[in-house]
Amino acid sequence: MKHDNAAVLLSVHDVKVAYGGIQAVKGISFEVHAGELVSLIGANGAGKTTTLKALTGLLTAGSGDIRLHGVSIRGQGAWDLARQGLVMVPEGRGIFARMTITENLLMGAFTRRDDEVEVDMERVFGLFPRLKERCSQLGGTLSGGEQQMLAIGRALMARPQVLLLDEPSMGLAPLMVDKIFEVVADIHRQGVTVLLVEQNARRALQLASRAYVMESGE
Ligand code: ATP
Repeated sequence: MKHDNAAVLLSVHDVKVAYGGIQAVKGISFEVHAGELVSLIGANGAGKTTTLKALTGLLTAGSGDIRLHGVSIRGQGAWDLARQGLVMVPEGRGIFARMTITENLLMGAFTRRDDEVEVDMERVFGLFPRLKERCSQLGGTLSGGEQQMLAIGRALMARPQVLLLDEPSMGLAPLMVDKIFEVVADIHRQGVTVLLVEQNARRALQLASRAYVMESGE
């Protein structure tokens, strides 16, 4: 199988996450290998978003272990994890409405200290010519699909080790859904490791090297 020789980039072992007394994630384990596109599918409320938040430090896992390149990262804050390359495209996009497209993209590179930010901005504009045409337009005035492109572009600006996508197709018109899945496939072909959370199981499985199914936090 394709992933046998690849390094384990991200491993999650018996992770549990609770909101107060409510156990939303009940001890899940999975792995993402370098270069893979892995999908996490499941119905509304299964615990997919909670899992991504635990991976990015927005929530703290109550128990279990999360490793990046074999090093335990559980309990680290969101800032440190973003710098280490765990970068999420959140459900609902989280665009900065009063900033331009260019400024939103620069925010994605906020943690970087190298001098290749402009090169990466051109790469993002290559993936999304529509963002380049509108680079001075305010984020809040973009269509849903354009905002999704911008959210993905902003995450790429952080040079993710693993790009974590939370339901990128949600709420978009069918043509835009096609476009977003095409772009996710392109990004993966360019060598980015992807963890794709989706309710749209059929489409997610078409792209994925492997997939995990979540049901009621398991
Ligand atoms: P969706 O596709 O709707 O985002 P999901 O699989 O991502 O679903 P989660 O959002 O992770 O599911 O939710 C998992 C469980 O945790 C649900 O039962 C949900 O009601 C609960 N939950 C989520 N956020 C909170 C919160 N802030 N406080 C309390 N319970 C929460």
